[in-house]
Amino acid sequence: MKKSIADIDVQNKRVLVRCDLNVPMENGRVSDATRIDASLPTIRYLMEKGAGIILMSHLGRPGGKPDTEFTMAPVAGELSARLGADVQFCASSAVVDDEVQRCAEALAPGEIMLLENLRFRPEEEQNEDRFSKQLADLADIYVNDAFGTAHRAHASTVGVAQYLPAVCGFLIKKELDFLGEALDHPKRPLVAILGGSKVSDKIGVIESLIEKADRIIVGGGMAYTFIKATGGHIGLSLLEESSVELARDLLEKAKKNGVPFLLPTDHVAGDAFKPDCNVRIVDGVDIPDGWMGMDIGPETALRFACYAGEAATVIWNGPMGVFEFPAFEGGTLAVARAMAESSAITIIGGGDSAAAVNRFGLADRMSHISTGGGASMEFLEGKVLPGVAALMDA
Ligand code: AMP
Repeated sequence: MKKSIADIDVQNKRVLVRCDLNVPMENGRVSDATRIDASLPTIRYLMEKGAGIILMSHLGRPGGKPDTEFTMAPVAGELSARLGADVQFCASSAVVDDEVQRCAEALAPGEIMLLENLRFRPEEEQNEDRFSKQLADLADIYVNDAFGTAHRAHASTVGVAQYLPAVCGFLIKKELDFLGEALDHPKRPLVAILGGSKVSDKIGVIESLIEKADRIIVGGGMAYTFIKATGGHIGLSLLEESSVELARDLLEKAKKNGVPFLLPTDHVAGDAFKPDCNVRIVDGVDIPDGWMGMDIGPETALRFACYAGEAATVIWNGPMGVFEFPAFEGGTLAVARAMAESSAITIIGGGDSAAAVNRFGLADRMSHISTGGGASMEFLEGKVLPGVAALMDA
């Protein structure tokens, strides 16, 4: 358990908050404010408690040097509008300098300022000590609320924490509560549903979940590497040749642990990777030459949805098919609906399954949608996230 802002006194203190304000931009405007909205509870809490608030984040990949394309200025405007309060933008391309320091010292309780893009400085990603100290000198307390970068040891996620009392914000706390609880004390049965295209990206997660889950379900493009490993014929379906051996080992390990490992037993196949290709349902594990499995079939979808519905905890990462093409969205939709309708604790591990759930309008019916794709994957792999480890224990 880590200390959160609710556990400390922030009144009349200057609080430096690492947020994840890395929002998509179009023509210099914020095109999707989901991450800004996710940061608001922590910021509002600090305003109400009378802290002076210094916000910092990265935006895009400016490559360690100032680049007007990646300025945080539009984010300050969007934040102001959503908070209904002024957010003072510190336009210094050095991120921290004497002027920024003066602004921080002049902050009154409840006032907010936003620093320029942290990645304008190469020292940020190098976790460089002097830059970490410069950031820390702005404030009395450090709050990390950026789960999306918690798996990276940067100046703003790790370095700064050694100079200040360091706690998590509400967003990271929710992530730790849901993901941590699901792994350490899950309500059982715990069902893990994994999909997406690349087996190699998910091997660590599958390995870790084989030790914890009561059932593993694999769909999506990566299922075909497993089907190949069992001796099936997969036609043109996605295959990671170099992972076939590993897939076989994982199936063996699941068997040894007595964990059922379910693969698709029918498929929606297409004759080309495009939305208007010819489509057919294929039963069994023998996909004809010239065809590729692009979604789990209707019977598999029913079976997977049934297991999701019966679980007490479901962790889902990765779509069941090429959900971006309507002809192949059925499996992903079936699993998403089953989770939405179930009374289980339902956790979406970020990335494309989060995008799918949003597209289906089911996001608010899940218990938790992780805000950090890479970070939640590493957490599910059982790795220690440096940005979390750097915070004080409760
Ligand atoms: P990942 O980033 O590994 O989670 O993969 C997500 C992507 O996998 C999505 O864009 C899906 O379109 C794609 N995907 C899912 N199932 C399949 C499939 N059977 N064949 C090809 N791509 C797939």
